[in-house]
Amino acid sequence: MQTQLFIGGRFVPAANGETLASLNPHDNSVIAEVAMAGPADVDRAVAAAKAAFPKWSNLAAMERGRLLLKLADAIEANADALARLESLDTGHPIRDTRNLDVPRTAATFRYFGGMADKFEGSVIPVEQGFLNYMTREPVGIVGQVVPWNFPLMFTSWKMAPALAAGNCVIMKPAELTPLSSLAIAELMAEVGFPEGVVNILPGLGHVAGQYIAEHPEISKVAFTGSTAIGRKIVQASSGNLKKVQLELGGKGANIVFGDANIDAVVQGSAFAIFHNQGQACIAGSRMIVHESIADEVLEKFAALSRTIRIGNPLDPLTEMGPLTSRQHRDRVLSFVDVAREQGGRVLAGGKAPDDAALANGCYVEPTIVQAKPEHRVSQEEVFGPFMTVTTFRTDEEALAIANGTEYGLGAGLWTRDLQRAHLVAREIRAGMVWINCYKRVSPASPFGGVGASGYGREMGFEAMREYTQPKSVWVNVDAQIPPYYPR
Ligand code: NAD
Repeated sequence: MQTQLFIGGRFVPAANGETLASLNPHDNSVIAEVAMAGPADVDRAVAAAKAAFPKWSNLAAMERGRLLLKLADAIEANADALARLESLDTGHPIRDTRNLDVPRTAATFRYFGGMADKFEGSVIPVEQGFLNYMTREPVGIVGQVVPWNFPLMFTSWKMAPALAAGNCVIMKPAELTPLSSLAIAELMAEVGFPEGVVNILPGLGHVAGQYIAEHPEISKVAFTGSTAIGRKIVQASSGNLKKVQLELGGKGANIVFGDANIDAVVQGSAFAIFHNQGQACIAGSRMIVHESIADEVLEKFAALSRTIRIGNPLDPLTEMGPLTSRQHRDRVLSFVDVAREQGGRVLAGGKAPDDAALANGCYVEPTIVQAKPEHRVSQEEVFGPFMTVTTFRTDEEALAIANGTEYGLGAGLWTRDLQRAHLVAREIRAGMVWINCYKRVSPASPFGGVGASGYGREMGFEAMREYTQPKSVWVNVDAQIPPYYPR
């Protein structure tokens, strides 16, 4: 297990010698002491990235792609070890890290490996006599700051398009979950990424993260995390007018119309909110259900939630693991009191499980709370296995509730009426909409939000645009330009 900073192709201690313990959220035991980067380490990483940039950005795109493809193969070859490490550090059940996180990480590196030499510029039809073409150049040195909820997957979401486009990367994983990104760094060194192209700096947000956002020689900062820190990133980036990309919080609406397939709704909604213990920005955390079927949906949904197997993430039968930290577990549980104070009714869960074997861990039962749209639990991101439920009568009312938060990331709707599905999808204020499904993602499909959920898109061609700058080149082929200052 690597526990040091990855700078210039080598694992090195932090300049100030500081470390932070990474804990196993199943029992809060220490997994490893990990080096914590400070400003001097960010400077070292920037120097390494600057030295690597000219050669890397001028390397044939196909060669950059080939390295990303080799990395995808290496991830698959090490799938079991990576899945185990991710489960230990984050609390994700091993069945998810093995079947979702690791394959998705490999798929994203592979997708952008294939993309590297297919992302083209264009020739623009301008006046006769001129050739105008546009190339897309890498932005330069890119800082990437990521949260703890999907640390392995986010290495690929963030790094793969940046590297395919020819940028050099300085990534700061979250202080709670640095281990899988260091494991990826080790594989990158093994498959032959040149030194300095990627630098991984575990460190504190307000120290290393803040300095990355401020750094005058970093040209872009891509951030995934809370809306509050997103605002700080924008402020910190203003010194050198960095390009900023923000993937922030969400409060996903999950609209269930009266004609929906109830069994599909129950399964899909449980995945929407309970997968990864609800610690997903795109979690479907607000069910908005038509009053004609609300009783049946809620009865079946609550019954399913009570049967979800909670336990040690390393047990292959576990369906829900612990939250990632004790502090976060306490925050999530505090929302149960908030809900009750405002008149909300707890329909399921609302507490830590009674199982003594889980007493030292950060566990919370799947929780369903009936609440009004204006209640705090319906407005604020809880980021846990916590679903609010509200009923509606008309489609207009459902839409108003769905659009009634500051966020606009993902939203879902369930109906058999095709016309209604497309109309509502058009009217929902969100970057992603799922019809009769929830939380589908693909490396090929744009991912991101609007409003307090941020701006910019990951994945697909959109991500390549985010990590490049257009350059327009004008050539006088045979134009006769009349003199502007005739004499
Ligand atoms: P967070 O904002 O507290 O931290 C995210 C990252 O920012 C961490 O690496 C942290 O160290 C760093 N950071 C903290 N303070 C900083 C500062 N002042 N300057 C620079 N960096 C700083 O978020 P979190 O609690 O780790 O993650 C949960 C949040 O992330 C939720 O709001 C969730 O919705 C959001 N999220 C969004 C997406 C998306 O794609 N939209 C995906 C996953 C998570």
